[in-house]
Amino acid sequence: MRIAIVGAGISGLSTAFWIQQARPDWPLTVYESEPHAGGTLHTDVVDGFRFESGCNGFLTNKRATLELVHAAGADGLLLGSSDNARKRFLYTGTLHRLPESPPAFLKSGLLTPLQKLRVAAEVLVPARREQGDETLQAFGYRRLGRAFTDVFLDAMTAGIYGSSPEKLSVAAAFPLVAALEREHGGLFRGMLAKRRGGAGPGGTLTSFTGGVSTFIDHLGATIRAEWRLGTPVTSIVRAGGGFEVRDTAGAAGFDRVVVATPAHVATRLLTPLDAELGTRLARIEYSPIAVVGLGFRVRPHALDGFGVLSTSRSGLPVLGILWDSSVFADRAPEGAGLLRVMIGGQRDPSAVALDDAALIDRARAGIRQAMGVNAMPDVTYVRRWARGIPNYGPGHLANVAAIDAAIEAVPGLYLNNNAYHGVAMNDCCDNGRRTAERVVAA
Ligand SMILES: Cc1cc2nc3c(=O)[nH]c(=O)nc-3n(C[C@H](O)[C@H](O)[C@H](O)COP(=O)(O)OP(=O)(O)OC[C@H]3O[C@@H](n4cnc5c(N)ncnc54)[C@H](O)[C@@H]3O)c2cc1C
Repeated sequence: MRIAIVGAGISGLSTAFWIQQARPDWPLTVYESEPHAGGTLHTDVVDGFRFESGCNGFLTNKRATLELVHAAGADGLLLGSSDNARKRFLYTGTLHRLPESPPAFLKSGLLTPLQKLRVAAEVLVPARREQGDETLQAFGYRRLGRAFTDVFLDAMTAGIYGSSPEKLSVAAAFPLVAALEREHGGLFRGMLAKRRGGAGPGGTLTSFTGGVSTFIDHLGATIRAEWRLGTPVTSIVRAGGGFEVRDTAGAAGFDRVVVATPAHVATRLLTPLDAELGTRLARIEYSPIAVVGLGFRVRPHALDGFGVLSTSRSGLPVLGILWDSSVFADRAPEGAGLLRVMIGGQRDPSAVALDDAALIDRARAGIRQAMGVNAMPDVTYVRRWARGIPNYGPGHLANVAAIDAAIEAVPGLYLNNNAYHGVAMNDCCDNGRRTAERVVAA
């Protein structure tokens, strides 16, 4: 059985890995357009500073990434975050400590007493009866009030999706939150029930010594495959009961093909097989994001925390600022500081098109305004993601259900990427394993 994996981000890599665990006798070919595997998981080292170009870690409350790490023999690479990671800040026009507990929330100056009362009244809000996809904003306004939504949910969606509450479907982007209302009648009720049922804490933010690329390189080395790096796939056509995969150098035949590229590339590759499928794939939108890294040889600020998130109304020209060197100590030389500033997203989609100097200026303006840091960075780094994070908007779940059905109708074809069933590294690893199980069982 000849298998092709198209796209070697973490979704494609985990699929390849688990297929090989089950069927070491099946020859694998991995196609990747970039010269290295990893996709948005990639570390660039510049003058001793380790800049993550995208994701910098995962939470241990879900097991999928840990299981992959363990099975790949990479436990020794795991790097837990420092205690700083729990201390987060929120910029609303002034800087606030993000409350971590109900008493801290009550004391915090982020909402007025009346607005806090509205949040507490969530227990009295009846569960929604009508069907249909609700935005996170509509859900938040209905259950928790406008103020909480415009501050907390707004900042959180910028941090996770580079998006805004009015652009996301609560059921697609925050399925666990939607389930609390559906299954328990409300959020507080649901959280209490889960606590009584022994649900564990939120997990620890964890990464890899030397940056995420250390793990990607290790994982890649454990997968015995014909590696076609720097080789974009240009077409996939049905041929003799299987598929012919073409790249810039030629063509090869396969029995099963896993398309693990972003949705906009899958659109291009799969439209000739099924035009309706192509139209559906093209509907999946992305938030464009620029990542600006700033390295300071002498730490310009205590950086005693995880970083700063911002609200849309705060006037901060950046989505958020991550204090990477405080969260994972090996990201910068001793005494130095490494910040990563996230810019653009749905709040300002055109920002990714700015040139490097303009993006660095904007990042500096962000840290000046939010943190009072005016020092010149010694090292800078810019990475643009024109299609950074999929934006699961209203209609996403129905669209993906139809995409899944169309893919199932083509025996031997599989789709796996963060565009469909979850954007976190844990989701990608979990979906990689599930996809591998389907490939092997078919
Ligand atoms: C700035 C940023 C920060 C993030 N932070 C976090 C975080 O802290 N925690 C977290 O859990 N998640 C985070 N994420 C999300 C997470 O990184 C991604 O969801 C995940 O890495 C996506 O993996 P993937 O394999 O699905 O897609 P990708 O990583 O996009 O992989 C797809 C691969 O397909 C390749 N490809 C494209 N076209 C072709 C072609 N024609 N032929 C062959 N190959 C092709 C691409 O080069 C790429 O390598 C972040 C994302 C971004 C952008």
